[in-house]
Amino acid sequence: MVEPTLFLKPGREKSVLRRHPWIFSGAIAGVDGVTEPGDTVSVRAASGEFLARAAYNPHSQIAGRIWTWNEDTRIDAGFFRQRIEKSTAARAALAETTNAMRLVYAESDGLPGLIVDRYADVVVCQFLAAGAEKWKQTIADVLEGLPGVSGVYERSDVDVRAKEGLQEQAGELRGASPPELVEIWESAPDGEDVWRYAVDVRRGHKTGFYLDQRENRKVVATLARRQETLNTFCYTGAFTVNTQWNQASHTTSLDSSQPALDIAQHNLSLNNLPANDLINADAFTKFREYRDRGETFDLIILDPPKFAHNESQIRKASRAYKDINWLALRLLNPSGHLITFSCSGLVSEDLFQKILFGAALDAKREVQITQRLGQASDHPILLSFPEADYLKGFVCRVG
Ligand code: SAH
Repeated sequence: MVEPTLFLKPGREKSVLRRHPWIFSGAIAGVDGVTEPGDTVSVRAASGEFLARAAYNPHSQIAGRIWTWNEDTRIDAGFFRQRIEKSTAARAALAETTNAMRLVYAESDGLPGLIVDRYADVVVCQFLAAGAEKWKQTIADVLEGLPGVSGVYERSDVDVRAKEGLQEQAGELRGASPPELVEIWESAPDGEDVWRYAVDVRRGHKTGFYLDQRENRKVVATLARRQETLNTFCYTGAFTVNTQWNQASHTTSLDSSQPALDIAQHNLSLNNLPANDLINADAFTKFREYRDRGETFDLIILDPPKFAHNESQIRKASRAYKDINWLALRLLNPSGHLITFSCSGLVSEDLFQKILFGAALDAKREVQITQRLGQASDHPILLSFPEADYLKGFVCRVG
């Protein structure tokens, strides 16, 4: 049988040769033999030379997502087993410090469009592109077979699926249905204590928990001792567990989602930490209230949701980042710390730093960056795919 083939326009093979895994629709001269979205095609230069094997999706601007650059590699069940095993093995050392981790980070792990997170014995996955979607059952079989897995749950209820012409989907794929809350653990910076967190894999954000902030939780803990702390956009209170564990004098936690705050409360009690101020409010409004009342803090954590979802939102997102950081800087006591994040991939670290500088000028505060933060090691950034780099943060000391 002749393999379906995607021909690139002349000169458009450059990015494929540089091992970027995406083929934009505008680079394509023609496609032969494809019957449905997600089908595997061999990618060929205008000259006919073989370049790669990819999943093809006529409904997406990213019409090709490359599985392999090796002509001898077939895309079949064995391929997915091998890639998932490799990616899982690369995280083996993490298992000493936690039972929750990202096992597959899509393009960075050679599996475009596939996210796999593990929470204790529950595996949660997202199929974000037509190619990954097509191989869903094969992938679910592999995941079910990983040691100690009781069930595989799908959380493809994300709007990026629309860009691929796919419906949102969620539910059990294999094995046992996950409990209402899955309990996970992470070791504390002292390496002796462990923290426990409850994760709502069915309704929580992303696949239920911010695994990408794992390393930063430790940074936050270290800075919190005896500090009057404000954890903004706290979600289920993971940073709060850390600040309270390291004896912050007090932590106020703020979020606009009551279900998240309910789990935050639960997470504090799971760790035998006293109930705290958990406030359901809009951060932008609440910060203005604090300012007007003259309330101040020693440590403020800002971890807002993604403000920029596409290029056209970058300006508006920058204004929102500036506003919230400006307010935070005004609320800090002298020598206080701001730990500020942006998870918008489209806002580069350089731009984020400039936004922060603008905020500092307007707040009339002298600010030093004392540490740069990023996403945890199970969210690696493949050098040929810088788009995987989205989380950036600064620890700032305010004069
Ligand atoms: N820091 C958290 C993750 C934060 S995710 C952690 O490490 O687990 C962003 C959070 O911001 C979500 O919980 C969302 O409910 C909350 N949020 C979004 N808009 C908000 C607003 N305007 N004011 C307060 N919280 C908001």
